[in-house]
Amino acid sequence: MYARPFIDSLDFAQNGKHISGELPVADLPRLLEILENTQGVLHYTVQGAVDKQGTHFLAVGVVGQCRLRCQRCLNGLDYPVRLETRLLLRDQASLDALDDDVAGGKEEEFDSILADTHLNVLDMLEEEILLSLPIAPKHELGACQATDGENAHREEKSPFAVLAKLKRN
Ligand SMILES: [Zn+2]
Repeated sequence: MYARPFIDSLDFAQNGKHISGELPVADLPRLLEILENTQGVLHYTVQGAVDKQGTHFLAVGVVGQCRLRCQRCLNGLDYPVRLETRLLLRDQASLDALDDDVAGGKEEEFDSILADTHLNVLDMLEEEILLSLPIAPKHELGACQATDGENAHREEKSPFAVLAKLKRN
């Protein structure tokens, strides 16, 4: 059993703390739902920092490999995970204000999350990994097993099935 780390996110950023570790995909239930199998280990790093404007953030990196399901032939598809992003830490009031901005068409370079004093690091990483994955992964033409047109046509439906599944959560 792997320890599930929690951090006090603002304190973590303020003090430039750092954690890193391994993330077996088998421990990420929401990710598992869209994977072809439970094999694969991702490596993560989370570095806290404060930018020049005084915004606290977490610099998040995830690398590794997982097995997605090709939406054309439904066979496994090796997918390299290379994720590097910043998550800005905000209190609830500024997150709400931000939602209004986004509705008004303003986009920010980085995503913002709630500055939680008890942030579940694996949940946060899982969310970011899910967001980074292609919605309808497919093999390169030629590498794909779905050769006949009838199959390809029938299985075109599956990306939507995957989407519907994601939306229910
Ligand atoms: Zn395929």
